[in-house]
Amino acid sequence: MAYLCMTHTKERKTVSLERTYSFEAVFIFIYDEGTFNSMKLLQERIRQEGLILSDTVLKVDSFLNHQVDTELALEIGKQFAHLFANRGITKVMTIEASGIQFAMATGIALKVPFVYAKKKKAVTLNEQVYTAPVHSFTKQETYQVTVSAKYISPEDKVLIVDDFLATGAALVGLADIVKEAGAELVGVGCVIEKSFQEGRGLLEERGIEVHSLARIASMEPGRITFIDELDEELAAGQAKVTPHA
Ligand code: 5GP
Repeated sequence: MAYLCMTHTKERKTVSLERTYSFEAVFIFIYDEGTFNSMKLLQERIRQEGLILSDTVLKVDSFLNHQVDTELALEIGKQFAHLFANRGITKVMTIEASGIQFAMATGIALKVPFVYAKKKKAVTLNEQVYTAPVHSFTKQETYQVTVSAKYISPEDKVLIVDDFLATGAALVGLADIVKEAGAELVGVGCVIEKSFQEGRGLLEERGIEVHSLARIASMEPGRITFIDELDEELAAGQAKVTPHA
């Protein structure tokens, strides 16, 4: 069963399972039931258990980032596999540490391996590597992410998966590694996108397809607004905030 949600905006958005539509005034969102329910479930967990540490930092350690709800993680993997189904993906890629469980779940669902970029080059990593500098938004430091050239090749079709999309630095770094390896980047899947930060814009500017399961339009203690709810408020003329989509 498909769910249709209307939104009034002139901006280009990735709205369906596989395509980006650009209409003048009205967008039609097409989600299937599974994706719709999973997104709602995730939104509820974020609302119930998420701690807003500042204007820009959300802590979800009780179910995503420290203790992991394994069933939810597997469901997230299935959703990414579903969103990027029939695209010939041969490898899922993420960055250590907090993307690993979602990349693994996605790899299981797609029946392909996953590779995680290392943040520090281990002494055991003595072969040819691809690297990219990444500035960490939460830790406020810059590090070199590294992937062995053995595990990504020009024949690969890569799906990048991560827990959060914020400034986009981590995912741009991974996208650069995919490019350096001569592989094809099929798209990016994020569990939580803070849509008021610049990450999505940065990735879309590079022509990268982005799907996020929960898109936060704004957050303040006691109130988190997700993009689909904002669409409903806009339609009802009650919207109080404007997202950077
Ligand atoms: P970006 O490079 O997009 O700025 O940030 C991506 C990485 O920073 C994610 O992999 C995630 O680990 C971390 N991150 C960014 N924003 C948040 C946040 O609000 N909460 C948590 N827990 N991690 C975040």
